[in-house]
Amino acid sequence: MNSDDNEKAREAAEREGITDTRSLPPLHAPVVPLPAEVSEAFLRTLLEVVPDALVIIDSAGRIALGNSQTEGLFGYPRSELEGLPLEDLLPERFHAAHMLHREGYVASPRTRPMGVGLSLYGRRKDGTEFPVDVSLSPLLLDDELHVLGAVRDISARRGLEERERDARETAEARLALLQLILDELPTSVYFVQGEEARLVLANRAAVTLWGTEWPTGQPMLDFLTTYHIRLFDTNGQALPPAAFATLRALREGKTVFQHQEVIRHEDGTSLPVLVNAVSLDQHLLAGLESGGGNRQISSAEPAALVVLQDVTPLKEAEQLKDQFIGLVVHELRNPLAALKGFATMLLRHSEGSKGTALTSWQREALTEIDVATDRLNRLTEDLLDVVRLQAGRLVLSHESIDLVDITRRVIEQMGQRSDRHQLTLSTSFSHLQARVDAGRIEQVLANLLINAIKYSPAGGSVEVTLQLLPGGQEALISIRDQGIGIPQAEQAHLFGRFVRATNGQAYGISGTGLGLYLCRELVEQHGGDIWFESTEGAGSTFFLRLPLSQSISAPPGEDPQI
Ligand code: ADP
Repeated sequence: MNSDDNEKAREAAEREGITDTRSLPPLHAPVVPLPAEVSEAFLRTLLEVVPDALVIIDSAGRIALGNSQTEGLFGYPRSELEGLPLEDLLPERFHAAHMLHREGYVASPRTRPMGVGLSLYGRRKDGTEFPVDVSLSPLLLDDELHVLGAVRDISARRGLEERERDARETAEARLALLQLILDELPTSVYFVQGEEARLVLANRAAVTLWGTEWPTGQPMLDFLTTYHIRLFDTNGQALPPAAFATLRALREGKTVFQHQEVIRHEDGTSLPVLVNAVSLDQHLLAGLESGGGNRQISSAEPAALVVLQDVTPLKEAEQLKDQFIGLVVHELRNPLAALKGFATMLLRHSEGSKGTALTSWQREALTEIDVATDRLNRLTEDLLDVVRLQAGRLVLSHESIDLVDITRRVIEQMGQRSDRHQLTLSTSFSHLQARVDAGRIEQVLANLLINAIKYSPAGGSVEVTLQLLPGGQEALISIRDQGIGIPQAEQAHLFGRFVRATNGQAYGISGTGLGLYLCRELVEQHGGDIWFESTEGAGSTFFLRLPLSQSISAPPGEDPQI
């Protein structure tokens, strides 16, 4: 083939849409003429050394030579193979197209793959078909144009491709079905993957909730930054990403239930939401793997299904309820103050020489009124604190106080309430300064001591210890009783509002379940912590960690390691 022929071949290739012309001979490359002295026997030997099925086709389209791989692949003995029109190796539906191609090829021969863009099939002697790749090269033999064809059985590769395509289509169909179902839900749902929470899919309600569409494949923080969306906690503090329920589910691999978050949009509007982020089991993802494009899912990465519930109506109802409680409690305060005041006055008066002496039942009745009004006062104050906390109106006034002193004082006050309990304080410190709201810390300590007494109906010791935590920057107060303890199964929720353990109620011990809730809120607002250890029937120890004003070293003899 001269250079003109090559040029034409290239043009023809381009006309046929073959853009990758690397398989064509370079410009000016001639058709390879075989030297006249190459014998047929030598040519046959040459064909045999190649693993592919090779055929040499003459200009009339008949097989002039074929190697044993071709015999094996198509099931023809060589005696039948040679002289056979090439069409016989193709299924009938390709015959017409092949004739046209062959004519075109004779007119502009060049090396090329055959049937680019087509799924080519070969046909065996027994009529069965199999997918093939065919590559053709022009060859001059005895001055006559021949074509060398290499045929490769690609059944295995095609099978793999088909399986991959089927898996992709199934995964995409499943995702599409999931999308359809989720779109019908009124709550917002999205599905994220990877530690950076790339979106796989989100339903329609989620778009409304975020106020904009979160593009699939985009990591959560990129999305929030792009659209100036911020997340806050219920106290109005900006949430760090590590605290987002979605990211926690992905990074810690655990399900986060009922996490309250507030979404603040770019225009300043806020939406309180309750988030449930369910960490998905890897084997659940296997059925969704290989979905295409941005929805690429891999079972090797963590994934989570996140449900966001808009709780605006609930919050509004809660606010109304808090306002109502606040109103009632305010109205109760005055009559309660009057009751307490008069009961105290009558008791004092009757004690002195001036007043009329009371009979013993009258004194008992007045003492009952005095104690009951104290209890009612505590209840109303607790309720007011809850309302203040909910509204973010509980303000602390910090001052420098001595923790040892305050603890001792509260122990003394509480010790007077019961003669069946022995309250003790053990500490190696004479002073430990902390900047806290003294009234609130007294309230916390009193609450814990009242509980220790109240939930030890048989009496016993209540041991308070005050220690320094390693590092010298925090104090640890522990209050240990020998009371009824707290059932294991109920311990996790004990700091919730109105939560009471069943054993206390079974003993007929009254309470509201507000004390521990308030203790935790107050301690956390001081930058501290509260927790407990308890065994049902054996007693409880409550721990209180509070930051000190300044770091101090342990006194002589004190081991700072607790
Ligand atoms: P209450 O007004 O019911 O005492 P708290 O919020 O102070 O409310 O406590 C919540 C619940 O925790 C109590 O109802 C009780 O079941 C349990 N509890 C608290 N302290 C103790 C304790 N020292 N020993 C046993 N149970 C306790």
